[in-house]
Amino acid sequence: MSRHPHPAPAFELERPKSWTDDAACTPADARLFYPLALDELAPRDRSSLWKINAENELEAKAISHRCPVRRECRRDAIEDTSEWGVRGGLNAAERRYRVRQEKAA
Ligand code: SF4
Repeated sequence: MSRHPHPAPAFELERPKSWTDDAACTPADARLFYPLALDELAPRDRSSLWKINAENELEAKAISHRCPVRRECRRDAIEDTSEWGVRGGLNAAERRYRVRQEKAA
């Protein structure tokens, strides 16, 4: 069973080993890897949306920093042009910057 928090098939048949099997993150960490929307917070917490998302992103990046498959994850995120969340230790804006750097090199 994959431990990766990003979308996975609804069922898993016998399959070859995948890099996602070695992910440091778990499905329970998904709330850290994707920004919350305003309506996901209680009204009293909504003024803290930016701060909560920033803190979650830092925690997600800390998990990714010690992940043994960070390179594979980052490449996968860049190749599928994922627009949301922390993948491979980078948020979407950082991945876009990385792509621009690679194209310029
Ligand atoms: S790099 Fe981060 S998002 Fe990717 S598998 Fe590892 S912990 Fe999960």
